[in-house]
Amino acid sequence: MYSFLEQSSLILQEAGKVGQIDPNVMQLLEAPQRVISFRIPLKMDDGSFRVFDAHRVRYNDALGPTRDGTRISPELDLDEVKALALIMSVKHAAGKIPAGGGKGGIAADPKALSGREFEALCRGYMRHLHSSGSAYDVPGADVGTNLQTMSWMLDEFESIHNRHEPTAVNDKPPILGGTLGGYEATGSGVFEVFEEAAREIGLEIEGARVAIQGFGQVGAVAAQRFFAAGCKVIAISDSRGGVFSENGIDVPSLIEHKQTTGQVLGLEGTHGVTNEELIACDCDVLVPAALQGVITSDNAVHVKARLVVEAANAPTTMEADRILAEKGVTVVPDVLANAGSVHLCQMERTQGLYDNYWDEATINQFRRERLSGGFHAALNTAARYQVTSARIGAWINALKRMEEAIKMRGWC
Ligand code: NAD
Repeated sequence: MYSFLEQSSLILQEAGKVGQIDPNVMQLLEAPQRVISFRIPLKMDDGSFRVFDAHRVRYNDALGPTRDGTRISPELDLDEVKALALIMSVKHAAGKIPAGGGKGGIAADPKALSGREFEALCRGYMRHLHSSGSAYDVPGADVGTNLQTMSWMLDEFESIHNRHEPTAVNDKPPILGGTLGGYEATGSGVFEVFEEAAREIGLEIEGARVAIQGFGQVGAVAAQRFFAAGCKVIAISDSRGGVFSENGIDVPSLIEHKQTTGQVLGLEGTHGVTNEELIACDCDVLVPAALQGVITSDNAVHVKARLVVEAANAPTTMEADRILAEKGVTVVPDVLANAGSVHLCQMERTQGLYDNYWDEATINQFRRERLSGGFHAALNTAARYQVTSARIGAWINALKRMEEAIKMRGWC
């Protein structure tokens, strides 16, 4: 089994080969342009002292300043950050966003820190990162970070540089120069790309049977959109287990149930399922919206869905991707399906630079148009290069744009 980084590199190589990308460009793209690893010292509440490892990877900035998330998790390692930074480069380029891919993070468990310790850690990250601001590299949120952490990071940046610069950080709240629609962007986008894909394969949206793994920010918002459109959401899971109902789950009731009990298990009218059962259940649409590497060579053979919509980053391994293709399952890849957030960050930046803020309807329309454009462009490219994979189509589109920018800059 390939590691996350190996898998991302293999997709890169395959798209480069099929898309006939210049070997010199491929040589440049086979590893990140800049990697910084640093250590954040922290005085703990009990008087002890700890040091936290942190990283920031700027994969390639030929198309514009590097941008995107900051992951704070105990298992975080540099290879994971590199893989995510590569995926972000592709996501931006495939969506025609003038940005490079960046990713960063801290190896720490936010739940094991007090409020003061966590704030000091986030501020320490920004201080030790030595960020130069919005024209260079723009950290955003990811697993373990949110509106509050991004606000602390922005405040730290602005204090160091003695100026207001809201575009130095993404995923901040509207009151500090962020954008409306941030929470819903990815989950709603997942549903909107599903709609496009369903039309392509002739799947009726009303009554479509949907199974969703993950009921957090992305999975829960997507579930509400599927439910509101008349799909039958038959299975939903979170880290504690899943629920199933042949007649369809009442998603608003599940949201309330999760708010009260902290889990999806136990919702009236449903029975419990394991994650493996959810992946193999008799549905039309499978939406992995939790973790990477969950559809593997072991369980891909059991997938019954006609359509897999990758809401999480890299949920399908390469071997599983091949098995699904052989079975005739259509996979909408992560770089298209969950790109709602990168389009939102582009809107956040544009509004911040102009100091002029848009209403939610404008934002939603922009997101929907951009997602649809990226999806169809990937399908067209896949057809042109005679491959069935929308993933390879999207990666080729991204690589072509990076190649052009790299060559125009005279880098190779
Ligand atoms: P989140 O932390 O809000 O939710 C994650 C959900 O997954 C939770 O419900 C959690 O209980 C569940 N989960 C964890 N382990 C599980 C397991 N073993 N089985 C089933 N469920 C499990 O995170 P999120 O923001 O919803 O992100 C989900 C995925 O989408 C991640 O891969 C993330 O990288 C990706 N993503 C998120 C965004 C965004 O804007 N939030 C954008 C692009 C991609």
